[in-house]
Amino acid sequence: MDKKLLDILVCPLCKGKLELDEDANELVCKFDKLAYPIRDDIPVMLEEEARTLVAED
Ligand SMILES: [Zn+2]
Repeated sequence: MDKKLLDILVCPLCKGKLELDEDANELVCKFDKLAYPIRDDIPVMLEEEARTLVAED
């Protein structure tokens, strides 16, 4: 995925910055603990498509 795209993408819920997980091919919001999938290089920024992350403290 184009890393420049990462700079302009924000979480649709909290409008916070996202982190790219290259291994999982997901965009992670640490605030909402959601991982948005990237399909065919296109981030799917939909809450209903996102995976809930298990909290790790
Ligand atoms: Zn968020």
